[in-house]
Amino acid sequence: MMIPYKHEPFTDFSKPENKKAFEEALQLVDGYLGQDYPLVIGGERITTEDKIVSYNPADKKQVIGRVSKASREHAEQAMQAAVKAFESWKKVKPEIRADVLFKAAAIVRRRKHEFSALLVKEAGKPWNEADADTAEGIDFMEYYGRQMLRIKDGLPVESRPGEDNRYGYIPLGVGIVISPWNFAFAIMAGTTVAALVSGNTVLLKPASATPIVAAKFVEVLEEAGLPKGVLNFVPGSGAEVGDYLVDHPKTRFISFTGSRDVGLRIFERASKLNDGQLWLKRVISEMGGKDTIVVDKEANLELAAQSIVKSAFGFSGQKCSACSRAVIVEDVYDQVLNRAIELTKEISVGNPVDNSHYMGPVIDQASFDKIMSYVEIGKEEGRIVAGGTGDSETGYFVQPTIVADVDPEARLMQEEIFGPVVAFAKARDFDHAIEIANNTEYGLTGAVITNNRMNMEKAREDFHVGNLYFNRGCTGAIVGYQPFGGFNMSGTDSKAGGPDYLQLHMQAKTTSEMF
Ligand code: GLU
Repeated sequence: MMIPYKHEPFTDFSKPENKKAFEEALQLVDGYLGQDYPLVIGGERITTEDKIVSYNPADKKQVIGRVSKASREHAEQAMQAAVKAFESWKKVKPEIRADVLFKAAAIVRRRKHEFSALLVKEAGKPWNEADADTAEGIDFMEYYGRQMLRIKDGLPVESRPGEDNRYGYIPLGVGIVISPWNFAFAIMAGTTVAALVSGNTVLLKPASATPIVAAKFVEVLEEAGLPKGVLNFVPGSGAEVGDYLVDHPKTRFISFTGSRDVGLRIFERASKLNDGQLWLKRVISEMGGKDTIVVDKEANLELAAQSIVKSAFGFSGQKCSACSRAVIVEDVYDQVLNRAIELTKEISVGNPVDNSHYMGPVIDQASFDKIMSYVEIGKEEGRIVAGGTGDSETGYFVQPTIVADVDPEARLMQEEIFGPVVAFAKARDFDHAIEIANNTEYGLTGAVITNNRMNMEKAREDFHVGNLYFNRGCTGAIVGYQPFGGFNMSGTDSKAGGPDYLQLHMQAKTTSEMF
């Protein structure tokens, strides 16, 4: 009997035994830093001269590891391996495919702190954020495994007397999974296993900033019994390998999480028919966000300030769900702003390794430079009332930054920064606040802090985002509880961790027999 799905609990690091276990995991990871990891193509391990080097963003000199870098020839080989493996994998019973996920979840659960410790080092995550990332990855495996069992016999349709109609789902083919660095475990694992459990074969191209945790996960799936060629590991550059695979006539679908610009590029390229291509490619895409927390005048203002600060600065604001706009009804604007400033000034920033800082670094130099350039723009467009400085001497550290009194049309209120910067804007009333909230090209998450039921209902209808939260922050969706994905330029609204996510990786087939 299958245990019902329940999300993986977060670790309480105030318990000395958990703290100790995590410190041991950090030591374990330290013991294997700097190693080389091969490509995996058709089950073969291939080592190349050319490498992608993964560094610790909190300590730039520390090399986390080196992965072999795929060329176009490797990408082609991997495609051939995946095409071949699809012929057998698609016939493997859904129950067996789900078992691979359940076993992989069990393996990761046993090594949970090790995976999280690796995320602390490779992605610069504070312990709690790393722990949540690993937990979410486990959740995706447990949840999608169960979803597959639920839809394996298709959905009911009607039949007339003398007729047998059936409606089922079959896999698509070879999928290209292009995963992000910000949930270097959860989203990488989730997008990969969703494609696999629904019977597809996969070429995984992980983010170049965090390839080591992905390499470790590929090993876990092998240990869990995934046959050779079903998952191929091809880290590489977007220009060399990404475009080639997106364009490839044998690519059946692309599952992408990342920036708006890369998402649009993929969407456009995927729409072109190439020689030998038989189908319209599917694109599953989760792109950016410019997410707003709206504060009503009838609201718990302490909760409002806490929610804004946590959603803006958790993992240094590097979530597409992060709060980067706070829109506050003018009657309570000063109060919420002042409290948010106080809370922000208490935040310490530093190397996350010893768990003594709320915020770690941002991912790399390019990201640091981009964020600091927005801080400069913030000086023109508003008032810097907290933070505003950065230091990239040893790691890429940016102080949590609040920019007050920003115009809703300003760049700071419109463009995704992907860092610890939040803009505050004043609204005349609640209706105006919702209007401002909707005034972006994105539509991923949003939150409303209010005690006014009618306003809450107005927001439920009119606030146009894929994930809308009331009286809480706008980050931290849980698999199976708050399916996650957004509208407009935030992507294809493919709800990760939701009841209809696997079907995006499948096609429905109707059969009808007359007796
Ligand atoms: N699902 C995550 C959340 O709810 C965000 C995912 C992302 O940033 O890509 O916070």
